[in-house]
Amino acid sequence: MIKPSTQLIDFVCEAQLPWISYSDERGRLVLVIDNHLLSTYRACPQYFMNYAVEGWRKRSEFGPGVEKNWFLDFGILFHKMMEEYYRSFREESFTLESFAIDSAFKHWDEMGMDQHLSHKEAQEMGGYPGFAGMLIQYAVQFKAENERLRVISTEIAFGKKHEVPIYEWGGPESDSPLFCHADIYLAGRIDILADDGIYILPMDHKTMGMFRGDPTIRFHTDDGPTGYVYAMNKILPRIISTELILKRQCSKILMNLISKRVPKEGSRFKRLPLFKSEAMLEAYRQRQIGTVNNLLSDLDSYVRSLGVQRDSSKCYNWYYKDCNYLDVCRQQDASAEQATLQSGYIKLPIWNTEAINDSTE
Ligand code: SF4
Repeated sequence: MIKPSTQLIDFVCEAQLPWISYSDERGRLVLVIDNHLLSTYRACPQYFMNYAVEGWRKRSEFGPGVEKNWFLDFGILFHKMMEEYYRSFREESFTLESFAIDSAFKHWDEMGMDQHLSHKEAQEMGGYPGFAGMLIQYAVQFKAENERLRVISTEIAFGKKHEVPIYEWGGPESDSPLFCHADIYLAGRIDILADDGIYILPMDHKTMGMFRGDPTIRFHTDDGPTGYVYAMNKILPRIISTELILKRQCSKILMNLISKRVPKEGSRFKRLPLFKSEAMLEAYRQRQIGTVNNLLSDLDSYVRSLGVQRDSSKCYNWYYKDCNYLDVCRQQDASAEQATLQSGYIKLPIWNTEAINDSTE
């Protein structure tokens, strides 16, 4: 889509979605995207409309509220623990007990992680004791004497102030047949910003079920890490001190991979450096614009009730399980879909790319 229809603009003004708005002042749509939002759209546009436009979440079969997701909850929990670790691991007061036992149990309990104990992976990990063991292993392998990274900062959120532009429309005089009439900004959160002696680089934690073959291979084509490097190049000059001025260009990211299952051989922790050239970052930028073009076109179609594309290859394989909206999509008509949504789903606040969000896996 090049020019948004008036129906689309009216819808955006009325719906008040957190990731898209219409700026009267600029006379254009403004999107704040993140990797989670766009990868959800790419996986299935119909899913995207249910999730990021209407806000439906599947009701839990076991009690009030929405269905819990082990992968998501475990990722959030592990990120919390890593944030805590890298804030305190070099301090004299740091102890394995307070980190991996006291604090880990507190967070495990607060998040109600025992509700996941029927999940195969949670059982294999050994529930909370297994989780504490994993953290102890991590803190021993990457204890202060072994950890070569100098942590500059943890949990850097970006996006709120539109500090990472992907595309800013130059107005009618600069019209390009390729790009949408919208401004696009990237949002996200970097787990750790570190100095490895040569580079200033972000480090991103990824929890995985287990290491199969080369566990790093999937990240070579993943837009998430590329987006972090792209963002760092925009924000680094503003956040690092002048003595590190020569390291202001960011071209590397470190993937910190964690296997929930203890592998038969080797460590359950692996680190993969990924290098991103300027050409790769520009290609990334163009891809995000292309995705937003398609997204706006589908949103326009949705707004006009013209139907939205479905990727039926994902219905039974949404990240290794059935799609949450399968019950809706297999209904025979729109009224049956609505009835299914009303009875089996709950509306929650829409994913907010500008807020500090947790997502992993
Ligand atoms: S059930 Fe299939 S078509 Fe429907 S939202 Fe899920 S993946 Fe898309």
